[in-house]
Amino acid sequence: MQTNPPIMRDYATYSFWLETSGDSLVPRASLEHSLDVDVAILGGGYTGLWTAYYLLSAQPRLKVAVIEKEIVGFGASGRNGGWCSSKFPVTPGMLERRYGGERARSLMLAMNDSVDEIARFCQREEIDAQFHKGGILTLARGNHHMPTLRAAFDAYSRLGLEQQYRLLSSAETNERVRVTNACGALYASENASLHPGRLVRGLARALERRGCVIYEQTEAVGFSGGASPRLLTPAGAIRAKQAVVLAGESYLTRIPTLHRVVLPVYSLIVLTEPLTAQQWDEIGWQKRESLASCNYTVDYLTRTADGRILFGSRGAPYRFGSKITDEQDRHAPTHDYIKDLVVEWFPMLKDVKFTHEWGGPVGMPRDWMPMAQFDPAQKIATARGYTGQGVSTTNLTGRILAELISGKTTELSQLPIALRISPQWEYEPLRWLAVRYMQNAFLRIDSAGKKGRAKPKDAFLAQYLGRH
Ligand SMILES: Cc1cc2nc3c(=O)[nH]c(=O)nc-3n(C[C@H](O)[C@H](O)[C@H](O)COP(=O)(O)OP(=O)(O)OC[C@H]3O[C@@H](n4cnc5c(N)ncnc54)[C@H](O)[C@@H]3O)c2cc1C
Repeated sequence: MQTNPPIMRDYATYSFWLETSGDSLVPRASLEHSLDVDVAILGGGYTGLWTAYYLLSAQPRLKVAVIEKEIVGFGASGRNGGWCSSKFPVTPGMLERRYGGERARSLMLAMNDSVDEIARFCQREEIDAQFHKGGILTLARGNHHMPTLRAAFDAYSRLGLEQQYRLLSSAETNERVRVTNACGALYASENASLHPGRLVRGLARALERRGCVIYEQTEAVGFSGGASPRLLTPAGAIRAKQAVVLAGESYLTRIPTLHRVVLPVYSLIVLTEPLTAQQWDEIGWQKRESLASCNYTVDYLTRTADGRILFGSRGAPYRFGSKITDEQDRHAPTHDYIKDLVVEWFPMLKDVKFTHEWGGPVGMPRDWMPMAQFDPAQKIATARGYTGQGVSTTNLTGRILAELISGKTTELSQLPIALRISPQWEYEPLRWLAVRYMQNAFLRIDSAGKKGRAKPKDAFLAQYLGRH
């Protein structure tokens, strides 16, 4: 088959993390002929690589191949906000209602362990991913946010996890970090921040040391299951004896049969120059907690190891047909809005310079729950749907998939994210109408709260549709 030469991108421009990963980013060799392996993996992000890592840790002789359309870390794994958190896309209250207290608690504990497992992995494999366990501070930026914090604290307490959480007063919050209108916070200890690029690139090297072969610039254009499952590429098929793993998160929507399994929503990030010691004295934030507020439009902040502020938010409009393009990585109105937010949160930074801006799609499942699924009849495994909370969750789903593929069952494969499938999203134009409506409603709810006004009349509907 005649194939077009791959477009050579300047991968360092896709995020600060790829730029500073310490790797050359020159693509590895691509697949040039058909191949027989034990496990074939689509996707060189955390999900695919963690799955390979735990498979090979348990069975060092296994033949595992990963194919990646671009380079390792091209997707969300090389672009995220650096939160390595035990926070889950679904609130603890909702988990409790859906699965009961015991199972919700097991999941929360497994998430805590995933954060620690990533630290152990970095130590074991000597990867300097700047792992820092500083916890998370979720701020109430106005009294209207306080009920959300209390409800979360109450839910964690019902699950018996209260020792990991602490409600902070306004004064206690200000002692930690000085943010405009912060009148309280929920502190969560079992969370870290890290350098996503160093983690994903280091993970790939750790795999290669174990004999895994990673083909870059190699796109899977299709797949099939059954007795002899395979990934199809323009250069040939990768036939797998044990399993094919689909680990493409948002990009899976480009495969026609998987088009509606998640919804790609863009999350955008700005990064400041390194702040001076005097600026940090004014701001505080000495413990480098990850920061967020209770806004529906989502905000997440990281103090990087080299003293910058990373500020991320969702706000870029959803594109009809679940479109994913490089052009969407930058959206000037949203990036400008986020820069204004940095100064609104920290007025002392009114003259700060921004050195980087980027973005990427997060994959939202229809029921907000990530999943790790293996169908032994078809020999197809997949894990996806992290809704912007995938850095540590992928470690958990990778371990679950490795177990399921190996035919083992431990308590991990009993967790509520294992062996389940989220419903598909609606067809267009319904999907576009609903998502655009919710994006707009969330902006209006946040804006009303900020101005001290009552929630818009349709807030209940938006909260119901986006309930998680
Ligand atoms: C801007 C942004 C900020 C985020 N912030 C955070 C955060 O702070 N904390 C957190 O926990 N989570 C965050 N997330 C989410 C987190 O990064 C993801 O959940 C996680 O990285 C998903 O990993 P993955 O391996 O499943 O997917 P990805 O990292 O997207 O990897 C999928 C890979 O598959 C490749 N691929 C896709 N289709 C094909 C194909 N057909 N053939 C070959 N290769 C293919 C892609 O090129 C890609 O490299 C953020 C995401 C974004 C975009």
